[in-house]
Amino acid sequence: MNDIKEIVSLLYNPTENDIALIQKAYDFARKAHATHKRNSGEEYFNHLFATAKNIAELGMSPTTISAGFLHDMLEDTDITSEEVEKEFGREILFLIEGVTKLGEIKYRGTNRYNESLRKLFVAMSQDIRVLIVKLCDRLHNMQTLAYVPEEKQLRIAKETLEIYAPIASRLGIKKLQRELEDISFMYVYPEDWKNVQDLLKTKEKEQEKYLEKFEKLIKKELAKNNIIDFKIDHRVKGMYSLYKKLKQKDMDIEKVYDISALRITVPDIADCYKILGIIHGSWRPLPGRIKDYIASPKLNGYRSIHTTIFSGDGGIIEVQIRTEDMHKEAEYGIASHLSYKEGIKKKTTNPDLLWVTKILPWKQNENPNAGIHSSSVDIPHWVKELVEYQKETGDGLVDEIKDDFFEERIFVFTPIGDVIDLPKDSSVIDFAYAIHTDIGSHMSGAKVNGKFVALSTILQNGDRVEIETKKSSKPSRKWLEFCKTTMAKRRINNYLENNKK
Ligand code: MN
Repeated sequence: MNDIKEIVSLLYNPTENDIALIQKAYDFARKAHATHKRNSGEEYFNHLFATAKNIAELGMSPTTISAGFLHDMLEDTDITSEEVEKEFGREILFLIEGVTKLGEIKYRGTNRYNESLRKLFVAMSQDIRVLIVKLCDRLHNMQTLAYVPEEKQLRIAKETLEIYAPIASRLGIKKLQRELEDISFMYVYPEDWKNVQDLLKTKEKEQEKYLEKFEKLIKKELAKNNIIDFKIDHRVKGMYSLYKKLKQKDMDIEKVYDISALRITVPDIADCYKILGIIHGSWRPLPGRIKDYIASPKLNGYRSIHTTIFSGDGGIIEVQIRTEDMHKEAEYGIASHLSYKEGIKKKTTNPDLLWVTKILPWKQNENPNAGIHSSSVDIPHWVKELVEYQKETGDGLVDEIKDDFFEERIFVFTPIGDVIDLPKDSSVIDFAYAIHTDIGSHMSGAKVNGKFVALSTILQNGDRVEIETKKSSKPSRKWLEFCKTTMAKRRINNYLENNKK
């Protein structure tokens, strides 16, 4: 148990230094937490090991894995920041300080707080690796939730379902999302969980046999068409995801076509379309169920082709076709771009994930150790604005932010790299007001990614926006047509009201 080889074997081509670093973090953590026990009575180190292993399974770097070993150190032991920095350097210290700070945010269990919390999460995680460590930490805490006093279980599970799982989803880390959701589901909605479990049981065996049979048929058909370089397997939908689907379908499992799906992976994109053609040539597709997420990726970057076909013997089967890269991206999302050795050289080809590369730690500087942000993670300005806005409008805040942040929002950057999040289709004007009312009110020009643009310009994920101001500039009524956020509109209207004369 807790054999470091389990972790090292997950590394892609590790150097001696990589292994030495992980070993050092392992030993250091084990010693520092030697007297600690978990709720279950087991050694505390088990938790640190499990967290580090979860991180390694996502393909993260030795640095991030080491941070996994050390993540509870500042909070739970006498080890100081100075000692950590001396032993492991600034980068690892930055990561574990980030994780510690995230731990200080407390969940309040109403939608309003969820929304600000999620924003806070993203903003505080100027380095996305902090979030990944936190998610992996949470996963192990969920796996051992049975040992936590009962009155705490529900709160933790709810927080996981409402905050952590959506974050994993927004980062495209399907693997974590599914695991976090399925465990929390059991605690948060025990009765529904039981129902879904029962429904699944009736279906599972029958589906399994059916899929295996169909898998063979497809293999044969592909071989006939000289396609031999492919992988085929099937996946069963996560329980929570199935539950959400069932709720839309009057809890009728016969109406859910993708409880399980066949998945075909191939080396390149052209093969995906070729295979789609072959399948549609042999089995009739259900109308309206063909989804080409390769041509139009989902907002979180997901790419794949989905089609649902009549299998010919009365059944209906969903088939997903994608390349190996897409598959990796679908399961590991951002993490697949962070895996340091492959990641640095291999830029993402997916335009919807380009913004991600801008928050990669090594992007800012060639030297990964020098590339980290300063460790001061103050509450960003827009959070303060939000609080102020809430004071003005009371409950209106809920309405203003009710569109799902993680589906409908974009991240853009200030010239110094601060993340500002805005609703989709926001303009330069929205950006300026999101920074500060004075900047909005005195805006005279703007640059996006270094080029001058009109103030009405709609921003895209990952844009770097610079606002120029002049004392004499002021808002005009026309601006109202070009802004999306209630905040900007309100501020412009206020200005116009106050300056009527
Ligand atoms: Mn922990």
